[in-house]
Amino acid sequence: MRALRATSVILIGAAPPFAALDGFDPRVYALSPGNVEFLRALGVWAALPAERLTPVHRMRIFGDDARSVLEFDAYEAGAAELAWIVEDSALQRALWKGLPATAHRCERLEIDEHAALLSFSDAAALSAKLVVGADGANSFVRHAAGIAATERDYGQAALVANFTCERPHSNSAFQWFQGGPVLALLPLPGAQVSMVWSLPAAEADRLGALPPEALAAEVAQAAHATLGELKLVSPVRSFPLRRLAARRLVAPRVALVGDAGHVIHPLAGQGLNLGLQDARVLAQVLNEREPGRDAGDHRLLRRYERRRAEPIAAMDAVVSGLFALYGARSSLVGRLRNAGLNLTDRLPVLKNILIRQAMS
Ligand SMILES: Cc1cc2nc3c(=O)[nH]c(=O)nc-3n(C[C@H](O)[C@H](O)[C@H](O)COP(=O)(O)OP(=O)(O)OC[C@H]3O[C@@H](n4cnc5c(N)ncnc54)[C@H](O)[C@@H]3O)c2cc1C
Repeated sequence: MRALRATSVILIGAAPPFAALDGFDPRVYALSPGNVEFLRALGVWAALPAERLTPVHRMRIFGDDARSVLEFDAYEAGAAELAWIVEDSALQRALWKGLPATAHRCERLEIDEHAALLSFSDAAALSAKLVVGADGANSFVRHAAGIAATERDYGQAALVANFTCERPHSNSAFQWFQGGPVLALLPLPGAQVSMVWSLPAAEADRLGALPPEALAAEVAQAAHATLGELKLVSPVRSFPLRRLAARRLVAPRVALVGDAGHVIHPLAGQGLNLGLQDARVLAQVLNEREPGRDAGDHRLLRRYERRRAEPIAAMDAVVSGLFALYGARSSLVGRLRNAGLNLTDRLPVLKNILIRQAMS
């Protein structure tokens, strides 16, 4: 058994997952400026290949009548950019580089008054004061700590793929609410965009099985030819979508961050942002603890849980509310939601509140 020194941190992951360096990874994230600052402070941002990062200067959101537009502009918001588009593989590579990391699958977690003991099938057990479960929606740590979670299948899958586009995207992110499905095209360097299309699972299967030209034509049409003709330049991947909320974010010697604690629909591109905010707050709570206070102390971890409860619930409510509102098929609801987009666009105060939320 190995014991960690009081202040040391080790990253344990199932396997170094990264791939895709030549073509762009179809799995990308829109990261908020607040989280980019966090990654910068950790030295992770500098380890990312700058030429593969894309700033987003404008967001254009269309209702299902394809006319109602809600626009967010970095210049109007007094910011250099609204978000940065980052590839999943590049981000994981940079994170693994920045921390002492070891590739093992955790198989057992035992917790007592003094320590948490993590066991693996292929390595010596590790003893630590605190285990941070950042192990995704099916979190082993959450299960092992006996933390219950409520789950709901959205009945949708998200198709992701990259395309070259005929017209310049001008560093704009586009999103179309289509009465249930939601299509997003995010800017990549040069004349490329990354698609996230959330659809009923059967429709995602149908589109995912199309020949490249046919898929590109359907995406271009769903995007109302805003970016002209599209050409598929990456594999197409599909992710089933569900909602998950852990009942607690902490247990003695355990804290959950990211999808281990909460999974939301990707329509607002906020899942990882929320997880990075968890990490920021947890780090702050641990740094500010009284001298001599054990990092796994349940009362200390409760401070983290209390500080995250409201922001997580608020984001979950906004995303689920949008999903329900835009999934409704009634034409009255359709007219109301399009009017809502237009109204929000004309109310600078409301727009500013929304934008501040998305940028933190
Ligand atoms: C299509 C799509 C688009 C999205 N776009 C955005 C976006 O633009 N912006 C945004 O903020 N969010 C976005 N999200 C949400 C985002 O992908 C997730 O919130 C985020 O990936 C969660 O990260 P995580 O590290 O918490 O979990 P995961 O990414 O699931 O990582 C968990 C890790 O734990 C490891 N692991 C699991 N079990 C064990 C074990 N027993 N032992 C050791 N290691 C283990 C896994 O190997 C994995 O590396 C999107 C989601 C989807 C589906």
